[in-house]
Amino acid sequence: MRNSRLLLFLIIFLLLPPFAPGASLAAPPQQDRAGKRFNLASCLYNNITFRQGETSPDRWRRCAKTLKLAYDQEPGHEKAPFALYLLGKTHEEMHERFHDPADLAAAAGYYEDLAMIFPRHALSDDALLILGTIALTKNNDEKNAEKILARIIAVYPAGDMAQAAAVMLRRMKNGDTVADNAAKKEQQQDALPMAHLSQPIRFWSTKTYTRVVIETSGPVQFQEAFLKAEGELPRRLYVDLKHSRIAPTFQNPIPIRDGLLKQVRGAQFDPDTVRVVLDTESVKDYKIFTMEEPFRVVIDVTGAKPKTPDHLPTLAEQFGLGVKTIVIDPGHGGKDPGALGVNGMQEKDIVLTVAKKVAAILEKETAFKVILTRDRDTYIPLEERTAIANTREADLFVSIHANSAPNNHASGVETYFLSLATSREEMQAAARENAASSSQISDLQKILQDLMQNSKIEESARLAGCVQGELVNGLQQKHDVKNLGVKKAPFIVLIGAQMPAVLTEIAFLSNEEEVRRLRDERYLEAIARHIVAGVRQYVAKLNTM
Ligand SMILES: [Zn+2]
Repeated sequence: MRNSRLLLFLIIFLLLPPFAPGASLAAPPQQDRAGKRFNLASCLYNNITFRQGETSPDRWRRCAKTLKLAYDQEPGHEKAPFALYLLGKTHEEMHERFHDPADLAAAAGYYEDLAMIFPRHALSDDALLILGTIALTKNNDEKNAEKILARIIAVYPAGDMAQAAAVMLRRMKNGDTVADNAAKKEQQQDALPMAHLSQPIRFWSTKTYTRVVIETSGPVQFQEAFLKAEGELPRRLYVDLKHSRIAPTFQNPIPIRDGLLKQVRGAQFDPDTVRVVLDTESVKDYKIFTMEEPFRVVIDVTGAKPKTPDHLPTLAEQFGLGVKTIVIDPGHGGKDPGALGVNGMQEKDIVLTVAKKVAAILEKETAFKVILTRDRDTYIPLEERTAIANTREADLFVSIHANSAPNNHASGVETYFLSLATSREEMQAAARENAASSSQISDLQKILQDLMQNSKIEESARLAGCVQGELVNGLQQKHDVKNLGVKKAPFIVLIGAQMPAVLTEIAFLSNEEEVRRLRDERYLEAIARHIVAGVRQYVAKLNTM
């Protein structure tokens, strides 16, 4: 649109209810609260911009505040793009009059938001052109201006701002061809296969933790940026997926509003990039990692823990009874059978049976609340299992698996906690349980150091020791069971767990003797009983610390 002032008249005209008597015989349509608030704000804007010599900062602030409230109330509202545009305008005008640099930053933030959150909206390229002009004339940031202008030409080649952007670019570079370079770069990248989001963005959430998962049709490179608050804008976390596409149906904003994140939204940022934006409210930290088959980018966002009230510890707390909820996670399930044993035994079945027994004993004999990640033969992605434990605010996480090895003499029990793998066996175990290749595991190792911050490594190692010890000693009373010890490996199912978390391998399905034992209900009962004993021992040890 050529003339933004003209446009504003149009917007305001469209938004105003028919005031003139007799203008409409029909009753005005019922309006929602956000819509009403937005109309009020645009009236305020209208009044101040057309009243010459309006110098009171209060009126401007009120206008900005009302627009912001309208936007926050319903960021997915049909008028939200207009609200962002007017917010940009309001802050820009405030900067002109009152010279507070924060207003200019806020204006730029709102224009950027409009272009990014509503890339298909008619005002998006207008917002970008203003943004480019601000970068060039106010911030003297030629590089950034160039980028923004090139973006207009690339994303909105048929839009009415493309020509203006091209003119500006030419003036800046004296005929240089940023746009040509952009086109060339695009051609080069077309040689690679393009990925697309294969399903809507998923999330699990509490007030202090949210996990967001983006699933794509193939591996993608990504880059993230955590933007500081600009003016009144909350901090935003962007993840750009290179060489990717997103279907329009997956672009709807997903409201979260858990106090940590406002919403998540994916959009086609430019022809080659999908940008996923997490609008945050009180995020303290975040971590990102990827998973294979299907390819997923997992974003864990954490906030400040709510302050625990100052009080003297209760008797229960003094005795270390802080453990209330335990998540028991039977590995695999559904389309993922896990290890396949001799005589057709499948890992997913045997670990489900054991997990159910563990849950039953815990429920019957202890005061713990028990959550099973699955109680039937169903497929649950690894990232969802940890997310269940985190969002249910579990105090312990025990994943139950069975082993397999090419050497069919291999046997015994081992228990893992999350850490870097240091031996080939540990790498192989991680590759098997993560359904990933060894090379993917070594990639994972590289980022694991960062991922492990805040995880309860020490406690997890202690829990692993208790479970392993009780399980082996218990089973050895009647059987010849090999103690393979406590080990560490980068198991995806343990990554991001906010409580002590372990993965125990109860037997080798590749070993005939062990499979024979697993067919005996009493043996399974014993395994379950000894896992429970391990958990109890861990909790009991907490008391003495
Ligand atoms: Zn397994």
